[in-house]
Formats: sequence, C-alpha cells, structure tokens
Amino acid sequence: WDDKNLKIWMDGELVDWKDAKIHVLSHVVHYGSAVFEGIRCYNNKKGSAVFRLNDHVKRLFNSAKIYKMPIPYTQEEIANAIKDTIKINNLKSCYVRPITYRGYGELGVSPLNCPVNTTIAVWEWGSYLGEEGMKNGVNVGVSSWRKPAPDTLPTLAKAAANYMNSQLAKIEATENGFDECIQLDYAGHIGEGSGENIFLVKDNTLYTPTLSSSVLDGITRASIMQISKDLGYDVIERPLPREDLYLADEVFFTGSAAEVTPIRSIDGRQVGIGSRGPVTEEIQSKFFEIVEGKTEDKYNWLNYI
Ligand code: PMP
Repeated sequence: WDDKNLKIWMDGELVDWKDAKIHVLSHVVHYGSAVFEGIRCYNNKKGSAVFRLNDHVKRLFNSAKIYKMPIPYTQEEIANAIKDTIKINNLKSCYVRPITYRGYGELGVSPLNCPVNTTIAVWEWGSYLGEEGMKNGVNVGVSSWRKPAPDTLPTLAKAAANYMNSQLAKIEATENGFDECIQLDYAGHIGEGSGENIFLVKDNTLYTPTLSSSVLDGITRASIMQISKDLGYDVIERPLPREDLYLADEVFFTGSAAEVTPIRSIDGRQVGIGSRGPVTEEIQSKFFEIVEGKTEDKYNWLNYI
C-alpha cells in the first residue's frame, strides 16, 4: 500500500494515514460492531464524480439505525465530509470507505456504553475482480456457506459482522480455485456473491434474487435494474433456484467495487457462451457510459466534487 501520504477523516478531524488508529479494546474489534459503505468516485471528462453519494450515505444511516448507533452528524455533513476527504487527498478517481463503529468504552456484549465513531478513508482501487474478468468473465463456485437467515444477522444492514460469513465463503472459493463465490440463502435459493449482487439473463429477461433472499439492497443492483428497464428488458425479482445459475444464458455480478462483472462459469459448468454475453455487455457499457460521463446523467447519479 503506497497510500501513506493520504489523510483519513476521523470524527471531524483529518488525520495522517499512519496515525489513524483506534484502541485494541474498542468494542468493534471484539464484537464486529461496525456499519460501513463502499463507494466509487469516477474521474470523467466533466470532473470527479461520486456515484450515488446520497444513496450510499442514506444506507449508512439506515444500517446504523438497525443497530441503534446514533451517528452524531447529519447525512449532509457526512456527504460533505466524503467530498472533502476526496478533495484534500487530491484523488480524482478512488474508492471511498466510510465506517461507523462502536469505539472504546465498556467491554461487554452491550454496545450501549461505547461511543459511536465515524471515519472516512479513500484510496485508488482498480477493477475488483480484475480487468480480464470485466471483459471475459470470472469463474465462480456456489459456496457451502449459506447467507444468514432473515431473523439472524440482518442483511439490509451493511454491517462488518456480516462479512465473517462472507469471508468463510470467499476463503472456500479461493481455496477451490474460483475467483468468487455465490452464496445461497437460508432456504437454498440464490443469494449473492461475497461483495456483489447477482443477475441472471434468460430469454432476454433479467432475474435477480428478491431482498428476502438475505441479500444487500445493492445500489449498483438498483442502478442496473433501472438501466435494464430503460433498455427495454423485463426485470424480475424473486426467489431463484440454484440450478437457474447453470441454465441461464448469462450471469453477472454487480457492486460498487465489482461494478458489472460477467460470470463465465459456475461450479465448473460453462455459463452461456462461456464469456461475457451480449446482454451483459450492453448493460455494462451503458453503466460505464454513465459513470464515465459519456452520456447524459439522466438519473442524476453523479455528484461532482
Ligand atoms: N452484496 C454484498 C454482500 C456487498 O458487500 C456489496 C457491496 N457493497 C453488494 C452486494 C453490492 O452493493 P452495492 O452495489 O451497493 O455496492
């Protein structure tokens, strides 16, 4: 990491990268009590633009609400702090990681006597699953680790602790030689990747798991649903059986980090043509045209800094 000169926003102060530390007995270290966001800022010909900034900040506050973590700032203040952190670090395109966590206080399961701290870090980050994967697709496997059931860990909260479950699935995928995993929900329906939502294309219709399948309410997912509908595709959200993964014409991941990443094989079975399919390519190009400012931002998704 050659990011040592970057500044990190910590509870209103800009702190040097090397000094952005918390106490080892902070509640979050022991009990995973954090909620966070992953956001991309794109450098395009009109300037530097954060993708759906207000929607990400809103989701951060929603995640915090679920866990009763009062963030002592308004959403507008956090959105401005994100823009300021990008500006001060002179980054034109970057990944942004705001995180709100239970800090140093009482060490016991109850978080209520621990402060609620917020930090914002930014850094440069290329394609999450690789440039080659963006073009030709990635190889994935269905995990033996399922997503948590709805009344266990709430998946509409983007909470750090959820990613312990994701890590088990990701480790398994890596050890099995896959680029990424797909986790099923508690009932065995298709869920999502370790950091991505998933879409299937079958007979020119798009399918994506319903939010009841323990998936994150992805902001890229919502954007892709919108783009696809405007391109004339039907988009259906419903519980999906695992074997649809093998029978689909095309399958792709969406996420702030993963953007739109095609999938070329699942569990050793070729998906469609075994490379990026035509519908995926059309939707992927439309997405990049918008974020790269090559077409009108008719949805108002770009927040220029
Ligand atoms: N699911 C999970 C588990 C994730 O971590 C992410 C990344 N935030 C996504 C889906 C995609 O969500 P978004 O498009 O909002 O980044």
